[in-house]
Parts: sequence; C-alpha cells; structure tokens
Amino acid sequence: MSSDIFAIYGASGCGRGVMPLAREKLRSRHVPLDHLVFVDDHPVSGVINGHRVLGFSDFLSIDAAQRHVVIAIADGGVRENIAQKCIRNGVGFWSVVADNVVVMDDVVLGEGCILSPFVTLTSNIRVGRHFQANINSYVEHDCFIGDFVTFAPGVKCNGNVVIEDHAYVGAGAVIKQGKVGKPLRIGKGAIVGMGAVVTRDVPAGATVVGNPARLINRK
Ligand code: UDP
Repeated sequence: MSSDIFAIYGASGCGRGVMPLAREKLRSRHVPLDHLVFVDDHPVSGVINGHRVLGFSDFLSIDAAQRHVVIAIADGGVRENIAQKCIRNGVGFWSVVADNVVVMDDVVLGEGCILSPFVTLTSNIRVGRHFQANINSYVEHDCFIGDFVTFAPGVKCNGNVVIEDHAYVGAGAVIKQGKVGKPLRIGKGAIVGMGAVVTRDVPAGATVVGNPARLINRK
C-alpha cells in the first residue's frame, strides 16, 4: 500500500476541492502525502496546492497495480472520456468520500465516486459509476442514479427519483419525490438549472429552469 500512488484527474476548481478530502482519507491510511498527486492534460503548474501535477503519460509510467485515479471534473461527458482512456490504459479507479458523509442502509455506490462534505445518502439507493455529489447535497430513499451524474452543491433529490446517465443538476435544485412504482425521472443527459424546482419528469437531453421547472430547450 505505501508505494501506491493516488491521483485526482483534473487540477482545476473541482479537483482542488476534492484534494483536501482525499488527503484526509489517505492520512488515516498512513499513505505518504507525496503519493497523492494531480493528473492533468493541460497543467498550469507543476505543483498545485502542494501536490505534484503529472501528465497522463507520466502517470502511466507508474506500475499498473499501484496507480489509482478519481476523476474530479464536473462535466460528465469529459469524465466519461477520461474514464474510457483510463480503462484502455489499465488504470484503476478509487473513490473519495468525505469523512462526514452519511450513508444509510442498502446503498450501492459505483466506482470512482466523489461525495463532498455534508452529503447524505439515505436508504435503498443505487448509484452508478463516477457520480459526483457536491457539498450539502442529499439523495433520499429509493433513488436510482445512473453513470456520470453530477450534482452541484446543495442538490435536494427526494425519494423515488430516477436520474439517468450524464444528467447534471445545478446548485440548490430541488427534485420532487416520485411515487412507488412511478418514480420521477430525469432523463439521460438532462440539465437541471440552479435553483430549479422539478415537479415532473424531465425528458432526456432537456434543460429545465425555474420554479416550477420549465423546459427551455431540447437537444
Ligand atoms: N482536463 C484534462 N483532460 C481533459 C479535459 C480536462 O486534464 O480531457 C483538465 C483541464 O486541463 C482542467 C480540468 O480538467 O484542469 C477541468 O477544469 P474545469 O475548470 O473546466 O472544470 P472543473 O474543475 O470546474 O470541473
């Protein structure tokens, strides 16, 4: 374990917000701090907030069994591209879950997730790969979250909601509780604007804003 290298892919706003959580997590596992690095394809500096920034090819020179990546970039499409590149190159994923995150009963989290401080996941929830839940977000009971879904800070996702792959939910949005057997559904790749109050299904690819949330475009 001590020679493993743990990377945060993306050294911009999102990645810099995840690094302290990762540091805390690894400190308790006695991983040396210089084994925690950023990876970025367009680094603005060789060191950011005290951590080395590696290019992807440098990162690949580390032994495959000892390199681990979590992708900390808010855009789910970019996350998926990078995840595919990592898989092609035999790079494994790790997850970063802040110390004070609350996870209740029967919650299954996919690989590569990031749960920021004050996130709560209650009970009977399924979450896909590379989910990002930013600070103060919650997911209530009986929700199903797909792959590469992103929650900005303060998202309130109530019970019996399905959020399909690549949906983006903006800061402070509220999603109404669905019904047993008829969940409220946010479609694939949909965007929920910040502060939106979602009271009905959102079609795939749509953008909704406002209270109650209304459609402003559809791809
Ligand atoms: N990035 C990368 N490879 C990619 C796409 C993005 O290394 O294929 C990096 C990019 O150089 C930047 C970060 O990811 O440092 C994304 O930063 P941005 O501010 O766009 O997003 P955020 O951090 O807010 O999610």
